[in-house]
Amino acid sequence: MNVIASELNRPILIAGPCAVESREQIRDIAAELSAYGVKYLRGGVFKPRTSPASFQGLEDQGLLYLRQAADEYNMILVTETLDSNQLERSIDLIDVIQIGSKNMTSYSFLKFIGKIASKTKKPVILKRGFQSTLREFLYAAEYISNEGATDITLCLRGIRTFEQIDSITRFTPDLTAILELRDMMAGINYPIIFDPSHSTGYAKYVLPVAKAAMVLGADGLLVECHNNPESALSDGRQSILPSEVKYLTDYLSNFSQNENNKHLV
Ligand code: PEP
Ligand code: MN
Repeated sequence: MNVIASELNRPILIAGPCAVESREQIRDIAAELSAYGVKYLRGGVFKPRTSPASFQGLEDQGLLYLRQAADEYNMILVTETLDSNQLERSIDLIDVIQIGSKNMTSYSFLKFIGKIASKTKKPVILKRGFQSTLREFLYAAEYISNEGATDITLCLRGIRTFEQIDSITRFTPDLTAILELRDMMAGINYPIIFDPSHSTGYAKYVLPVAKAAMVLGADGLLVECHNNPESALSDGRQSILPSEVKYLTDYLSNFSQNENNKHLV
């Protein structure tokens, strides 16, 4: 089943918390998101945190909570694993395999993911390494496709420049990469989605940047939300409320990509 790239579900909207924190937290968020028509539920359970002292995720137990929430609200489960061992023991519970920015250049893991995705026919979302060029990003996708996986979606999530020196944002949103990737892909046509949450790191900027990405031709969005951002165990500063995701579902349902992209033809 071509879950991600299907025409039916475009524009793609993936939403959910940075991390699954409890059975109730993910269930409440899934309930609200599904009521707004969101089909793809994200939630981190194996978290690639910069500091080993930070919350690392609920791991296998968290994946069970995420699976239960997705099943209860008939949603498609999107989550990241950090290594082949985690992926192998989790694959049966995962619908869409996310590869995080920090793993974009883990080439043997990419090959392993390609094999598993090919065997199970599960879609893959590959996030851009925040220090990687677009050429390196496309090569990473090629590592996966070379193993026989065909359903690959590219996710832009911001790159590291001068931010954090004098700026409130966490990364620099790589918006023009949407245009450039399309030109570089020539005939492959992976869907391109944009993550306005990690790319800005700042909830107030998430909706405007999400809209900018759509105007530039993104096929969809991956957004973090939390029902109580101040108490979130990770990435609360960039998490919007589920009610703000409702704004995005309304925006996307009125969004005509063909109309919007006329100037690019
Ligand atoms: C995520 O989306 O859960 C995540 C960790 O993002 P990134 O890999 O882009 O840092
Ligand atoms: Mn996050």
